[in-house]
Amino acid sequence: MSAGVSLSYAAPKAVAAAPAPAATSKIHRPGTVALDARLGGDEKRTRLVVDLSKKVEISAYTVADPYRVIIDLPDVSFDLPANSGRAGRGLISAFRYGQIGRGKARIVLDAHGPVKIEKSFVQTEFEDQPARLVVDLVPTDASTFKKNAEAVRPVETVAAVVSQKSVRETPPAPREIPVVVIDPGHGGIDSGATGVHGEDEKDIVLATGKILRDKLMKTGRYKVVMTRSGDTFVPLNERVAIARANKASLFISLHADYIPKREGDARGATIYTVSSRASDREAARLAEKENKADLIAGLDLSKQSDDIVNILYDLTHRETQNFSSLFQRTLAGQMKSGGILLHQDSMRSAGFVVLKAPDVPSVLVELGYVSNAEDVKNLTSDAWRDKVADSIAASVDSFFAEHSAVASVR
Ligand SMILES: [Zn+2]
Repeated sequence: MSAGVSLSYAAPKAVAAAPAPAATSKIHRPGTVALDARLGGDEKRTRLVVDLSKKVEISAYTVADPYRVIIDLPDVSFDLPANSGRAGRGLISAFRYGQIGRGKARIVLDAHGPVKIEKSFVQTEFEDQPARLVVDLVPTDASTFKKNAEAVRPVETVAAVVSQKSVRETPPAPREIPVVVIDPGHGGIDSGATGVHGEDEKDIVLATGKILRDKLMKTGRYKVVMTRSGDTFVPLNERVAIARANKASLFISLHADYIPKREGDARGATIYTVSSRASDREAARLAEKENKADLIAGLDLSKQSDDIVNILYDLTHRETQNFSSLFQRTLAGQMKSGGILLHQDSMRSAGFVVLKAPDVPSVLVELGYVSNAEDVKNLTSDAWRDKVADSIAASVDSFFAEHSAVASVR
């Protein structure tokens, strides 16, 4: 360890305010639990320390565009103090953590620039001390970073995840009734936007998506597939792949928006379709934000297969786009008559990755703004969720009833 930089494995005294006393009870939960995480050091050397209820095997590596450090863990659940990872230190601007698949957890550190993992290890728990995951980072130059990233990069790719899951979850069923795919945004390590009282977008959209699923199923007129039905991370391309593999006739992605206070206040629902050219700057910015989900989870997008990329950018299916716009208008009408507050500019378009299946009419619904207290009240209310799900279900009905030809689009 270089002189002048004091990096301790132990929790710094300043952390005394953290809810450490609860740790003993947490330790008795099944599986391994991450109890605390902190950054130490400076821009010459930065250390991440994570307290764990027991020792696990880890794998740490770096990925570029942007510069990130990925720490893969087995089945670890996170019980970290609120706001963990929000503030950076030294070489790191922030970090995130969460599940990335069944029995797989991940910590993703955002680096200010190219860094090298000098060492990474997990200390065994000892007496009343928890096990400690330690990762030391030092600065490096861009070309060394690139070499290191290539040398240690695991063979996980988005495409691999896509094919595995598509095979597992999509039995080739004969299709008699239209398939509607409900896509609750974010999940697992990717919480999405954070609400005024700390509500996670991923929870809001999952709860609403499940209500919608139940309503649609009850009609008996649709097969409904969820891209996720739990708090799991699903890469964007996989969401598209699930829709395509199920020969979906309609894809509905659910989200909740956020605007920072300094940019003002906004309320209401907005329905987006895909477009290579965004309808306005705000829409473009939103698409950019929603498209970051894979980066947030630390996926290496440079490893995406060309096949998937080609599918994504094939926007030649004019017919699909027409049906998407039709559903967009139908839904806006149903929401309005159903008493759901719409944003003043409620029908927009931008380059959302999840909407890019060339053969599946797709919309992305931002149900409201988690940055607005009134909207949050709605978004977290069972009655409102029921109401918005009614609007969506009604628009699905009228979409398929009036234009039954849509079922034979493919
Ligand atoms: Zn979102």
